[in-house]
Amino acid sequence: MKRAVTLRKGRTGIKRGRKADMSRRKTLDGEGTGARLKAAGLRPTRQRVALAGLLFGHGDRHLTAETLHGEAMAGGIRVSLATVYNTLHQFTEAGLLRQVSVDAGRSYFDTNVDAHQHFYAEDEGTLIDIPGESIAVAGIPAPPKGTAIDRVDVVIRIRRA
Ligand SMILES: [Zn+2]
Repeated sequence: MKRAVTLRKGRTGIKRGRKADMSRRKTLDGEGTGARLKAAGLRPTRQRVALAGLLFGHGDRHLTAETLHGEAMAGGIRVSLATVYNTLHQFTEAGLLRQVSVDAGRSYFDTNVDAHQHFYAEDEGTLIDIPGESIAVAGIPAPPKGTAIDRVDVVIRIRRA
């Protein structure tokens, strides 16, 4: 099942065409990150570009807000945990990330937005990708009237055996 990416532009604080940002951005990162944010409808602010560099510069990753905040601190990027949370949610709304909730208090942000599922290793607190075509979910009930199924998330919890 291919997931439709929905851009809700009104909620992501998009402002376009600010020349000041164009020049600042060049000193921080290659053109790639800023262009990627713009393509997703997000204004490439300094903090967004810096966090996107950490998120997307290392292949497919599953990160919590706390992990990303720690990496930002270690990398000399001064940003609050609240800003990291907000940025992760903005990136998710823009379709750049996918949120995977494993517990009420624990969410991971996945840089791989292609259709796939996860093992969750409860002992280590890590997610392991399962390719989308490896799982078939049978017997999905019809969604309530007036709604459509966006996607089906499967988290298979594993422990040491
Ligand atoms: Zn994943």
